[in-house]
Amino acid sequence: MCYTACMPGAQTHDMITVVTAVVLAPATWIISPDHSFGTALTLTAAHLISGLLFSCDLDIDSREYRRWGPLRLIWWPYKESVPHRSWISHGLVIGPLLRLAYFCVIIYVALWVTLHALGYAALWRELEASVATSLTRNSGQAYAFLIGFVLGGAAHSIPDWITTGTKRTWNQWTRL
Ligand SMILES: [Zn+2]
Repeated sequence: MCYTACMPGAQTHDMITVVTAVVLAPATWIISPDHSFGTALTLTAAHLISGLLFSCDLDIDSREYRRWGPLRLIWWPYKESVPHRSWISHGLVIGPLLRLAYFCVIIYVALWVTLHALGYAALWRELEASVATSLTRNSGQAYAFLIGFVLGGAAHSIPDWITTGTKRTWNQWTRL
């Protein structure tokens, strides 16, 4: 069977993420209806964050996982419970979106507990309302972020599939 040995390493994944981001930035600027520099910047930043930090390989003790330093504790339950290269982590759209949702839930709960424990319930309510308002007001940027984030995951999953497929075919041919 072919698993880790068939996949590009973290360095290759980082390079693919950066190269695709370089292509994505001007492409987004050209494609976006208003030729917005802000939209191109948001989408490209989300692509980089997704590929370099919120990588599909957070499902193993990878370089991307260790990149979080002590904060990798956040991803420990994810790493332990998600099977490596399953659709949950490496799925084209679902993978990155689930990681983003997972991260948001952890931050939400941690902030809720901390602020309530310190007696800042009013500050929590203000914070919650201002985040909701800013997301509604900047929905275009929020969508650009989500698209960039999904593309960052795709820039990892697709090379994984291609490498595995190529090596499987090669192994079948060489066995003939
Ligand atoms: Zn992978």
